[in-house]
Amino acid sequence: MSTMTLFKNVVHWKTGEKVTVAVEDGVVVSLPKRGHEHARVLEFTGAVLAPGLVDLHVHLREPGQSGKETIETGTRAAAAGGFTAVACMPNTVPVVDTPAWVEWVLHRAKGAGYTRVYPIAAVTQGQKGEQLAPLQAMARAGAVAFSDDGHPVASAAMMRRALEYARNTGLPIIGHEEDPTLRVDGVMNEGFTATRLGLRGLPNAAESIMCRRDADLAELTGGRVHLAHLSAAQSFDALRDAKRRGLPVTGETCPHYWVLTDEAVGDYDTHAKMNPPLRSEVDRAACIAAIVDGTIDCFATDHAPHTSDEKARPFAEAPFGIVGLETALALTLTYLVHPGHLPLARALELWTDAPRRLFNLPEVDLEPGSEADLVLFDPNAEWTVDPDLFFSKGRNTPFAGWSVKGRVLATMMGGRFTHLAPEVDFEHQLVLPARDQK
Ligand SMILES: [Zn+2]
Repeated sequence: MSTMTLFKNVVHWKTGEKVTVAVEDGVVVSLPKRGHEHARVLEFTGAVLAPGLVDLHVHLREPGQSGKETIETGTRAAAAGGFTAVACMPNTVPVVDTPAWVEWVLHRAKGAGYTRVYPIAAVTQGQKGEQLAPLQAMARAGAVAFSDDGHPVASAAMMRRALEYARNTGLPIIGHEEDPTLRVDGVMNEGFTATRLGLRGLPNAAESIMCRRDADLAELTGGRVHLAHLSAAQSFDALRDAKRRGLPVTGETCPHYWVLTDEAVGDYDTHAKMNPPLRSEVDRAACIAAIVDGTIDCFATDHAPHTSDEKARPFAEAPFGIVGLETALALTLTYLVHPGHLPLARALELWTDAPRRLFNLPEVDLEPGSEADLVLFDPNAEWTVDPDLFFSKGRNTPFAGWSVKGRVLATMMGGRFTHLAPEVDFEHQLVLPARDQK
C-alpha cells in the first residue's frame, strides 16, 4: 500500500488556521476516518504549509554552461528554497530558439529535475535581435513564454512583430528592459558609488524608457508584455501607468531590489554586480511601495549562477548576476513580512498563485484533489546564509554571512519529498489516533 504523509497541526498559509493535511499518491487527500498505520507524520509547531513556490525567472545554464549550473543542481537548489516549479531562461549555449531545444530542456528536466521545469524560449534567433524565432512552433513544443533575457529586444519594430506573433499563442514576451544606447558599457548603477569607484554607470532611464516603449507596443498589438526584474523607481511608475491604461502588461521584481542598494558594491564586490544593477535608496523604497500597492504582479529571483573564477575577475569584467533560489523565501519574510510591509499570505501569493496565473500553470492549493506540490517552512527560524552549503553550483550571493529569518523545512513535488532540512526526521512514524480526526 502507498504511504500517506501527514502535515500535522501546521499553519494554513492563507487562513492562518491550524490544519492537518494528508497526501497520498501524489495528491492532497481527505483525512482518513480511522488510524492510518503507515502514515509518516511531520509535525512542527508554528510551521506554515503553502503551495510550492514558483520562480518565473531562473538561469539553469543548460545546455552548454554546466560549469555554472545544471538543470539538476539548479532545480535541487530550487527545492531547497521551497520551489516546486521554475521557468528557465533561454540564454544558454546554444540559445533555446527552436522547438527541438525546448523539447531537449523538457526531456532533461524530466530525468534530472527536482522541480517542474517550464522552458522560456527566445524571441529572436540566437537572441541576436535580427530574425524572429519560430514562436508558434516553440509554444506547441512546450514553451511558456518568450524572452531574449540577458539582452533587450533593441528594435521596436522587431518587438512589435514578436508581440503580434506571440499574441496568437496567448503567451507573454518577457522584456529584459534596457536601452542599449543608454547602457553602453555601464557596469553598475549610475550614481555616487559608481563615481567614487570610477565605474561606468547604468541610468534608471535605460530601463524605464524600454518599459514605456513596450507598454505602448502592447497597446498597439494586443500582445502580452511581462517586464522582468524591475529595479528603478521610474520603471515601477511605467508599470503602474500601463495598468491604469488597462494594457496587458505585468511585471516582476527580485529580492535584492527590495533589500539592497548600490552601496552593497562597497569596494568592487562582484557579488553585488547584477543587471539591472542595485539602485539607490529611493529606488529600493519605490520597489517596496510598488509591491505593497499591487503594481508588482509577482516575485522572481533572476537566479544567475556563475563560477567563482568568473566572479573573481575585476569588477568591470566580471559577469552580471547572483544566485537567489536558496535565499528568496527568507529575504521575503525578513524584509517584507516581518517588518510589516506585507501580510504573509500576500507575500506567499506573489511566489505561488500569482506566477502560476501569469504563465497559465496548473493551480495548487491545500484542498483534496490538488497536486501535492507543497512547501513547509518555519517563518521565525533564524539561520545564517552560508554559500558553501548551497545546492546550487553558484556561490555568488551578496548575502553570505547574513542572518535571516524563515527556513524551509520540507519541499514536496507530486507527493515526493524533494528537500528535507537536516532537522526533519521520520523516526517517529506515528499511528494517527482516531480522536485526532476533525
Ligand atoms: Zn535579464
